[in-house]
Amino acid sequence: MGDGDYNEHRDVGTEHCEGLRESGKRALMRTILLATGLTLGGFSVLQALAGNYPFAILEVLCTALLLFGASRIGRARHLNLWIYLYLVPTFCFILYIIVMPDASAAAFVWLYMIPLLAYLLLGKQRAFLLTAPFMLAGLLLYFADNRLNLDTRGLIDLGNAALCGVLILVFVHIYDGLRMQAHLELERLAQTDSLTGVASRGSFQHALQRSIQEVERSNGHLVLALLDVDHFKQVNDQWGHEAGDMALQHICQILQHRLRVTDFLGRLGGEEFGLLLRHTDSVGAEPLVELLREQVAEQPLEYEGQLIALSATFGLAAWPADGRSAAELYRSADRRLYRGKQRGRNQLVSADVPGELLLDKFDVRL
Ligand code: GH3
Ligand code: MG
Ligand code: MG
Repeated sequence: MGDGDYNEHRDVGTEHCEGLRESGKRALMRTILLATGLTLGGFSVLQALAGNYPFAILEVLCTALLLFGASRIGRARHLNLWIYLYLVPTFCFILYIIVMPDASAAAFVWLYMIPLLAYLLLGKQRAFLLTAPFMLAGLLLYFADNRLNLDTRGLIDLGNAALCGVLILVFVHIYDGLRMQAHLELERLAQTDSLTGVASRGSFQHALQRSIQEVERSNGHLVLALLDVDHFKQVNDQWGHEAGDMALQHICQILQHRLRVTDFLGRLGGEEFGLLLRHTDSVGAEPLVELLREQVAEQPLEYEGQLIALSATFGLAAWPADGRSAAELYRSADRRLYRGKQRGRNQLVSADVPGELLLDKFDVRL
């Protein structure tokens, strides 16, 4: 649609959805660490009772390590590193139990845990890179095991095991790809206003919050502009709801066309929009917003061979001068927008007039 691709929200939804979401990964890792730790703790008691003290001590140490991991995983900084630190030794252990002396012939079934764990915790690409060599090594070890019976029956058993492993790997890979696509599509839908294609209210608020955190860290600048289409009810009443919808799309196209890559446009509701202008203060933002206002007023909507005149009123607030929090910025910008409506609409208001604030305080309407 139009020159600017305003379906693309550059600020939100760009975190690649690999495997589960981060909070899901942490919760799953905590459960896995706890379950493995407690199981190993139980085995250490059995080893001690059987008089196998070196193994018992080793298992107690592993239990302590795993339980420590479970207590820290919720706020661990390098989550993927923790996941690899758990998965690689676990996968090595799975290979070991296939070949260890006295191993059960059915021990290879643990190989099938490898793709499931890896895909859930790491996502498609990383999981494939980690899983493929371990599955292959498991198969070769199973094959190389001299207890394996290589007659026709044994080969059929081996073929079944290998085929099942490969199919699990393929299905998990396909499933994770589809799940990721569905997740991204849902995320896109939630972040996009379906009528205009600009950011939804929720994703605009999220972008504002994030931008405020960024400028707090960098001591930078940020401007929030709110705009409300003037006499929009009359557009609907006179031309119909479809024309009203087209007018909203038309205005978004004009706005989006002029915005920089770092700017962000969202529909806050009805015929009200928010503009997030980053790396600029109110002195820098004013000419741009004024230009946007002029363009909306100068480019009427063509509807069924007729021209529908449109205009909007803008209220502008800058961080940190007009507020440090998102709520304060909204309040300042909204108050100025309201002032612009009072003064006759189709204008930008970027500062308060002290006398008018006093009138507001005593709820005096001009
Ligand atoms: P003002 O200049 O004071 O802002 O007047 P206004 O008429 O724009 O404001 P008012 O709040 O009275 O009317 C807003 C109208 O916007 C009412 C509502 O029907 C219309 N509207 C809200 N959302 C949509 C939409 O998605 N499509 C259409 N066509 N109209 C919408
Ligand atoms: Mg309104
Ligand atoms: Mg309006």
